[in-house]
Amino acid sequence: MKEMIRTATCGDLQEKHLGTEVVLNGWVHRQRDHGGIKFIDLRDRYGITQVVVEPDSAAALLKTAAELRFEYCIAVKGLVRNRPKEMVNPQMPTGAIEVKVTDLVILSRSQVLPFMIEEKTPAKEDLRLKYRYLDLRSLSMQKNLFLRHQVAFAAREYLVNQGFYEIETPTFIKSTPEGARDFLVPCRLLPGKFYALPQSPQLYKQLLMVAGFDKYFQLAHCFRDEDARGDRQPEHTQIDMEMSFVSREDVFNVVEGLMRHIFKKALGRELEVPFERIAYDTAMDLYGTDKPDLRFELTLKDFNNPAAQSDFQVFKKIVEQNGAVKALVAPGCGHYSRKMIEDLEETAKTYGAKGLAWIKVTEQGLEGGVSKFFTEQSRSIIKHLSAKPGDLILLVGDTRKTACTALGAVRSKLGADLGLIKKHEFKFVWIIDFPLFEWNAEENKWDPAHHMFSMPQEQYLDSLEKDPGSVKGDLYDLVCNGVELASGSIRIHDPELQKRIFSIVGFSLEEAEIRFGFLLEAFKYGPPPHGGIAPGLDRLVMLLAREDTIREVIAFPKNTVGASPMDDCPSPVNQEQLKELHLKLIPPKED
Ligand code: ASP
Repeated sequence: MKEMIRTATCGDLQEKHLGTEVVLNGWVHRQRDHGGIKFIDLRDRYGITQVVVEPDSAAALLKTAAELRFEYCIAVKGLVRNRPKEMVNPQMPTGAIEVKVTDLVILSRSQVLPFMIEEKTPAKEDLRLKYRYLDLRSLSMQKNLFLRHQVAFAAREYLVNQGFYEIETPTFIKSTPEGARDFLVPCRLLPGKFYALPQSPQLYKQLLMVAGFDKYFQLAHCFRDEDARGDRQPEHTQIDMEMSFVSREDVFNVVEGLMRHIFKKALGRELEVPFERIAYDTAMDLYGTDKPDLRFELTLKDFNNPAAQSDFQVFKKIVEQNGAVKALVAPGCGHYSRKMIEDLEETAKTYGAKGLAWIKVTEQGLEGGVSKFFTEQSRSIIKHLSAKPGDLILLVGDTRKTACTALGAVRSKLGADLGLIKKHEFKFVWIIDFPLFEWNAEENKWDPAHHMFSMPQEQYLDSLEKDPGSVKGDLYDLVCNGVELASGSIRIHDPELQKRIFSIVGFSLEEAEIRFGFLLEAFKYGPPPHGGIAPGLDRLVMLLAREDTIREVIAFPKNTVGASPMDDCPSPVNQEQLKELHLKLIPPKED
């Protein structure tokens, strides 16, 4: 069999190889019979080469060729020759040549496939995941995983050249809070004790700063036990970074350089830096979200003045009670039917609005919907909103946050519905000046908006406890095309300040001591000022690959309910294992 081990790959052969004898190994991608001549597209990771079995070949060769089916793994030996003119394919690197087969061996056979390798309909997703190794043979998945490899390599290349060390932190840790539930691992040797899987290497990277490794990075697996919603995975990968003696500007410089390098290496594209910056409050005000998609320009406008001056009692009251009325002009949507407006209203309601008011703009002024309350102000409203005849004005009144968020969601829907999004663009933006705390209405307490190790901005240091809601943090997010790509912050390195934050978010000192005592202890020994960030690798590759879900860029992802149909994980364990771990199962309650 030695003579049937490949001498070239299926992506190699070109006109310069004409007349040479080669051996190729690969899979039967497609085959067709043209009047007794058999054409096989042979595929491997590198490409596809057309191989041909002529009808005058030896009987044994013809017999083996007749047995071939989709995805058989085979070896062929043959001569590289020109393709007939009408079969030349300039789109393919190997499109000028073919291999005339002189020997053919079936290395292994394939059963009838459960689905065609390139079949990607949503209905087939669980099947694709069950046979992921087949799905991964498809051209798109091969491309995506190659891209992922390029991005990871470029990230390492850039950061190492900037003087970063790649350092691994443990997978079995004491829990690190990132706002999700921990996955727990029971400890057999210490009954009743548990390891947690890291939600991120946050505390460890801060300890590496205390240890003096002033530029650290790691492609880190992060585990978060969250409800399976949207595009979440129980585990994801971050390009985790931390630096000492830096300001926010230094972190931004490194990340902008990193993104430039990755885009250049993986896509051959020049990214313009520095990236735009928008304060959190402005982002909420203009786009109704802290992850704005800037590939289209629609912005929300304030409508409090016209609302206060109108006779529309609902809106008037909202303004009186310190709420907000926000407006969005949907360009050219004046012809929208009631049903189409109701669809937009549904979106607004999903994000907490009680309703969506509307007005049509015509040559004569304002018409329909709630226009009758605004007749006197029609000219000034049209001017204020820069609306044109044929436009549709959409209005939400509520608390400022709900009004902005709900209309922001309508903005996103319109961007997609109206085809306003410039799909080929990558629009990066830093969101800065986030609030440090968020009010948790369910538990009646303040929560950290990012995590509790983030630094408040200096001007708030004296008033932290007095008005936590007004405190802005030294926190930042990197957003691209409406996707949150990274979060980070300058960290607290003063144990006293850290204790104040613990107390504001309702962590008693005893509890803080139990959970993060080791960090507070480390901070007693000359911790350097430090800060960091962690771009999500999966999301970054998803954007570069122009995919809609991170499942398309992860080799073996879980499905939308957090399970793996391929190896049937998570799965029950036997009694013996549970006993060893000192665990007893409580059967779930029946509804
Ligand atoms: N550990 C944070 C996260 O996973 C990122 C950071 O602050 O560096 O979101």
